[in-house]
Amino acid sequence: MICIPVIGPTMGQALEDIKRARSLADLIEIRIDLIENFQLKKLLEATGPEVIVTYRPIREGGKCTLPDLDRLKVLEEALVLGAKFIDIEWDAIQNLKNADQSKVIVSRHFFNEFPINLTEIIANLDKHPVAITKVAVKIEELAQNAILFSALKNKKKPLILIGMGEEGLISRITTRIFGGFLTFASLTSGKESAPGQIAAEELRNRFRFKKTGQNTKLFGVVGNPVSHSLSPDIHNAGFEIINFDGLYLPLKVGDSDSFMKNLAPFFEGLSVTIPHKEKMLSKVLNPSEILRKIGALNTLSKLPHNQWEGMNTDIDAAIKSIIEVLPSRTLKDQTVLVVGAGGASRAIAIGAMQAGAKVTITNRTVIKGKKMADELEIPFISLEDVLLFETLPYQVIMNTTSVGMVPHIEESPLPGIQFLPNQVVFDAIYNPHKTKLIQNAEKDGAFCITGREMFVKQGGLQFERWTSKKAPLELFRNILNEKLG
Ligand code: NAP
Repeated sequence: MICIPVIGPTMGQALEDIKRARSLADLIEIRIDLIENFQLKKLLEATGPEVIVTYRPIREGGKCTLPDLDRLKVLEEALVLGAKFIDIEWDAIQNLKNADQSKVIVSRHFFNEFPINLTEIIANLDKHPVAITKVAVKIEELAQNAILFSALKNKKKPLILIGMGEEGLISRITTRIFGGFLTFASLTSGKESAPGQIAAEELRNRFRFKKTGQNTKLFGVVGNPVSHSLSPDIHNAGFEIINFDGLYLPLKVGDSDSFMKNLAPFFEGLSVTIPHKEKMLSKVLNPSEILRKIGALNTLSKLPHNQWEGMNTDIDAAIKSIIEVLPSRTLKDQTVLVVGAGGASRAIAIGAMQAGAKVTITNRTVIKGKKMADELEIPFISLEDVLLFETLPYQVIMNTTSVGMVPHIEESPLPGIQFLPNQVVFDAIYNPHKTKLIQNAEKDGAFCITGREMFVKQGGLQFERWTSKKAPLELFRNILNEKLG
């Protein structure tokens, strides 16, 4: 169930928000402590019966300053007026005298910490003869969500268990999967009643909340940061369109060891991004020779016994995209210039070599580029020397630097170079869609491949590995174009 809190601050605003919340929520929570001069009867007439009334005191994160006995009287009145539930704090519940216990939620909040004895705390709250136990805790590290997932799975009675803060977001999204009684979602962003609440529309649409259940398979992107990742958008939309019971989450991971030990067992597949691409290689069962050579991966897929298979779909996607447009349909014996000597450059150079290409590296910083070229036993040419050419003597030119990425969209790593109609020009940058380099190459009539196409294809290969179904690449393209322009 989705419960939307209504937080005022005025009666007028509260009544307006209730009207909007009714179409998005299964339950509405009225936070009367946050509504100035509230009129309970009027509020309850507006919500209808599907409502929780909460009158939170300051000590539990609310604004009510009344003594407990007076506060509870108001809540008892809410039940008389037809509220479905009232929420009462753990240290006030013994003062509740005249309430139907089947309509009471007992709650406890830890805004600033993750309690080490969470199981004990839940067990103690469960002893109260009321309908529902609610506990909200601050998540300090993503892996702590695993404790919430297990607590929900082992619950003895209806339980609302919320992880607060950015790291707790996934506990709010996965409520139906682990059997939580409800999740709280804000009416819109900016109307949150607790830290880390997600907007109801995003929960429903981007994270398929109503489609998830106890058999839903979990996936996600492991990185830091990940809040701007578009992988959740493409994968969740893909699951939706092929009717696959999956959910893909952003996973902001600090400590990858703790994540893999504690939280990863709940997942079936993971995309891996900066800064974890190299370290995650050590988690893979029998990594392939090419993975070991690249030294980085972007995909993990669950094997039996909690072991993981590793893939680098970035490379497969880049090479596949190039082969598709090459007139010869093969990279064998083609000359390739890789511009850059960072992580992406190394991976792409190895991928092209594996496909049979004759690769040369160029880089701004000579010492770094030469080191990489020596390691891979391929030629190096300084970027300064490359820029002396009018046209480049290579069939394929691949930019793997960040030059030309937003906001520096007027920059090109190869300014002044004239491209040839039979050349292939690839740019790993996916925002903007068409970099200055690609625009110039298109003007010169070269075959062009954008980083956006690589992003679509790397996601597609992951999707196919996890679902065993064809990836809806056109849908992925449309989503990226809509989100990034
Ligand atoms: P990185 O390790 O930081 O490497 C950056 C490279 O860019 C280095 O070779 C650096 O040269 C060069 N560079 C930076 N600024 C430059 C400048 N002003 N002039 C000339 N060269 C410059 O980054 P990375 O992880 O390899 O990623 C590189 C690019 O690939 C990023 O744009 C990323 O978005 C993209 N990428 C795209 C996808 C996709 O799916 N489309 C996937 C992965 C990566 P120096 O050595 O001289 O500093």
